[in-house]
Amino acid sequence: MVGAGIMGLSIAYHLARLGVRDITVVDKSYLCGGASGRNGGGIRAQWSSEANIRLMQESIRMCQHFANEFKINVWLRQGGYLFLARTEDRRRSLEESSKLQRECGLSTRMLSPREAQKIVPELSTDGVIAATFNPDDGVVFPWPFVWGFAQAATKLGVEIATFTEVTGIDVRGTTIEGVRVRRADKGGDPTGSREEHRIRTRKVVNAAGAWSPEIAKLVGVELPNKPHRHEICSTEPLKPWLKPLVADLGNGLYFSQSTRGEIVGGIGQERVPPGLDQNSSFAFLGLYARALVATCPILGKVKVLRQWSGCYDVTPDANPIVGGVDAIEHFYQASGFMGHGFMMAPVMGKLIAEHIANDTHLPMFDRWNLRRFKEGKLLTEAMIIG
Ligand SMILES: Cc1cc2nc3c(=O)[nH]c(=O)nc-3n(C[C@H](O)[C@H](O)[C@H](O)COP(=O)(O)OP(=O)(O)OC[C@H]3O[C@@H](n4cnc5c(N)ncnc54)[C@H](O)[C@@H]3O)c2cc1C
Repeated sequence: MVGAGIMGLSIAYHLARLGVRDITVVDKSYLCGGASGRNGGGIRAQWSSEANIRLMQESIRMCQHFANEFKINVWLRQGGYLFLARTEDRRRSLEESSKLQRECGLSTRMLSPREAQKIVPELSTDGVIAATFNPDDGVVFPWPFVWGFAQAATKLGVEIATFTEVTGIDVRGTTIEGVRVRRADKGGDPTGSREEHRIRTRKVVNAAGAWSPEIAKLVGVELPNKPHRHEICSTEPLKPWLKPLVADLGNGLYFSQSTRGEIVGGIGQERVPPGLDQNSSFAFLGLYARALVATCPILGKVKVLRQWSGCYDVTPDANPIVGGVDAIEHFYQASGFMGHGFMMAPVMGKLIAEHIANDTHLPMFDRWNLRRFKEGKLLTEAMIIG
């Protein structure tokens, strides 16, 4: 397994539960070093495609049981997601999505601006023409999910090697023979040996998130996903007052209140070029602050305490790349999860593990296979934040 983010760890844990042995998860960084330790912790079933709605219904159920099952507090708070529409097109799109969500069993409601204000009285309805609300969506603290999966996987015999970088994958013909790794440079540790050694294996899962195209290149496979920096910040803690995560699909603004009281949020930045950049910018703070205060004027006086960033793993059609590839046997992809891979990892890990261990075939995996890009069968998803 390449990558000890939530996706790699969830897959490894579920593989071990299915009785698969000799699983090694390698990560060039620390646990939570990738996007899994840098995200907003939003979990929602409000989507525009049936596959994503149904997946997230199951993932939210799994999140509800996670604390009990993994014996770790994940600070789950189901205050709902409130999506705002400011244009007629967006209103129509939210209406179509919410209809499909209700057909799938969600309690999503279409709201007038005034009804939205009943849920968040501090909301400015200037320019808002409609909203949707699903009370079962929510927010978690992401790190304990990573730790929970890591601890449980380790108990089942999975080896997790952090600060271990994959440098090569040996292939003969179309068969994988091993993965070459070396101790990653931690910085300030010139004494450690950085010699390469080899892990013998016939199966590799590429769960390297925004780095997954680099890993695929090691076996000559070209992935179309690209890393894009996404910035986020958190304020001083406030008394609890904001129940839902508020999101505006128009500009990609989203914000929620954590269980510790901080307002955590971000915004889409169209001009960020692709690249593995995890720096923070003043430009983001200005853009986010203006949009946040316009949407919720009461936040104008709140102090930002911390800002950071991570990489979205962006595919051309906003859908993930999952399952085997045609060129190499047993080289599985679990990447391209944009800004929503965290919430999908509990259920995706289970399904991908079943696919690998038992060769189960799900129609959604066919749709999400890498070959769709060659075949020109691109998919759609209208409810992408950021
Ligand atoms: C700011 C921000 C906010 C977000 N908000 C949300 C949200 O609210 N809800 C949500 O569901 N999702 C959100 N996301 C997206 C979510 O975080 C990701 O989709 C998810 O964490 C991806 O998990 P992963 O395990 O695939 O990748 P990662 O967590 O990035 O893990 C990949 C791992 O691969 C390792 N790796 C890379 N190259 C190598 C190598 N050569 N050798 C060994 N290891 C390697 C990396 O060190 C990394 O740890 C957000 C993302 C960001 C950046």
